[in-house]
Amino acid sequence: MAGRLEGKVAMITGAASGIGLGTLELFVSEGAKVIAADVQDEKGAMLERRFPDAVRYARCDVTAEADIVAAVALAESAFGGLDIQFNNAGISDRMGAITEVTADGWNWIFDILVRGPALGMKHAVPAMLKRGGGSIINTASIAGLQAGWGPIAYSTAKAGVVHMSRCAAAQLSPQGIRVNAICPGLIATSIFGATMGMTRDAADQMAALVAQNAQIAQPVKKPGLPQDIAQAALYLASDASAFVTGTHLVVDGGITVGSRHSW
Ligand code: NAD
Repeated sequence: MAGRLEGKVAMITGAASGIGLGTLELFVSEGAKVIAADVQDEKGAMLERRFPDAVRYARCDVTAEADIVAAVALAESAFGGLDIQFNNAGISDRMGAITEVTADGWNWIFDILVRGPALGMKHAVPAMLKRGGGSIINTASIAGLQAGWGPIAYSTAKAGVVHMSRCAAAQLSPQGIRVNAICPGLIATSIFGATMGMTRDAADQMAALVAQNAQIAQPVKKPGLPQDIAQAALYLASDASAFVTGTHLVVDGGITVGSRHSW
């Protein structure tokens, strides 16, 4: 059976780790060629060795516009074009309170989390138009929907990603380019570990937290994994979501439902 992304070319930022890596693995298994855009050169080289026909690594700091331009150009030269752009690279911080965040802190967070996807979209569009359209997916967060899931600058930036995705969808959908956001819940990756100040393996921590209903009321009693977000990205990347644009898909095991009761 043909893969759901057969013949498609995708660029994934933050592809060396966590959600980006899980999505790269799924996209490749579904037949896509992938530009793995990240700043972790060793991991990028390992991905090229692991998937010699399907993956090319682009060193791409999403705060550097020239890097993004070069990564899109690599998609065109190596694989003939670009159909799917997953703007996913991210960091988190521990600057919790409005009184703590410095002016430079705001710039740092917004440069990576908002300006990065903005420039990613800007430079993906001309390449996608040459192919007659495409799908852009931006990683936001439940922190962008509700207060209390992350530091204030991070959460505000992620709210910006949700709305920027809507605005871009309105602009680009008439040209055949769909734009959607994904809002992951608590996903076992290194970002989650860093945000929560965890020292043990993030997945183990996640499993323990989820099992303690009093602390985190996540109705689905399993740890959120990168693969759970990858499946959402696959849906939004593929033609199965041809009628879906300007939305945000919450993938959080129900944690934002907000009820601690089972009745
Ligand atoms: P991760 O740390 O495993 O992966 C992040 C990746 O982004 C890394 O490979 C890192 O090298 C890369 N990166 C960081 N700064 C970069 C830059 N300037 N340019 C290019 N690449 C850069 O974490 P993750 O959880 O997989 O994070 C992926 C996305 O998911 C982020 O946008 C994050 O905010 C979002 N998210 C994560 C969670 C969670 O619980 N893990 C929840 C909601 C949203």
